[in-house]
Amino acid sequence: MINKTICVIGGGTMGNGIAHVFAQTGFKVFMVDVNQDFLNRALTTIEKNLDRQIKKEIITEADKAAVLGRITATTQLEDADTASLVVEAATENRDIKFALFRKLDELLPVDAILASNTSSISITEIASQTKRPDRVIGMHFMNPVPVMKLVEVIRGHATSDTTVNEIMALTKELGKIPVEANDYPGFVANRILMPMINEAIFALMEGVATKEAIDEIMKLGMAHPMGPLTLADFIGLDVCLSIMNVLYEGLGDPKYRPCPLLKKMVAAGYLGRKTGIGFYDYRS
Ligand code: NAD
Repeated sequence: MINKTICVIGGGTMGNGIAHVFAQTGFKVFMVDVNQDFLNRALTTIEKNLDRQIKKEIITEADKAAVLGRITATTQLEDADTASLVVEAATENRDIKFALFRKLDELLPVDAILASNTSSISITEIASQTKRPDRVIGMHFMNPVPVMKLVEVIRGHATSDTTVNEIMALTKELGKIPVEANDYPGFVANRILMPMINEAIFALMEGVATKEAIDEIMKLGMAHPMGPLTLADFIGLDVCLSIMNVLYEGLGDPKYRPCPLLKKMVAAGYLGRKTGIGFYDYRS
């Protein structure tokens, strides 16, 4: 049973959003990161997002104080040893996640659920690092977490029905909509989204159209809220490349090969919004 104490690992783009949503639903949240500066930045982001909700009259100043009061930011994973659920949102790196899950398995109550927000790493492989693979699951929130409704719930090879049911119910309690998927490279969201973005980059590289034209055609023609190249800049080109590599290696089909222009831009440090430049220039 998931009680009201949970732990979020990582205070980055996704982690602070996940901590925000749980705290707003009444959970006591331990937010863990590797140093205090990252945690301070995460708390500042949560405050700013709460202020935005106050402006829109979704919450009051008192709600904001209550939400912040339910979040404990710490660099010590041990502080969260009573949590009944962990949502891991650390850096997308297999070694980091594997080491974290081994440690969490030792530290947390035997019936605690260990969930990962990974975009592409196999839930089955993450689960195999623990002695409780039936209690390991994917909980793939979308960015920005406080706004986006979907949570892709990923069932690893050994995930039990009980665990899936508990996470489906919890996701609804958070005001989100859970949709179940099996554990294959990229799950559903990125298996379909990333090849579209990659194809848009091929179209740009081959001179089929300008970047603006590609984005405008997909926006107006398919009723997408933003074009694929704008979206790639928002997600981060390094993240797009790493997901394409997971699809290419995991499915073994050349149709998933990352576009050479994507590789070149990542090598040049043109990662999108986070570095100020990607397909578009955000520096002015
Ligand atoms: P990020 O780089 O913004 O944040 C990652 C955070 O994890 C950093 O603050 C880092 O210091 C921390 N961290 C690293 N190792 C740690 C450890 N051992 N213990 C505690 N904290 C640690 O990354 P992000 O974009 O928030 O992505 C986090 C996860 O969410 C990844 O698995 C990613 O694939 C997934 N995801 C990202 C998006 C997105 O749009 N960015 C969307 C869905 C899922």
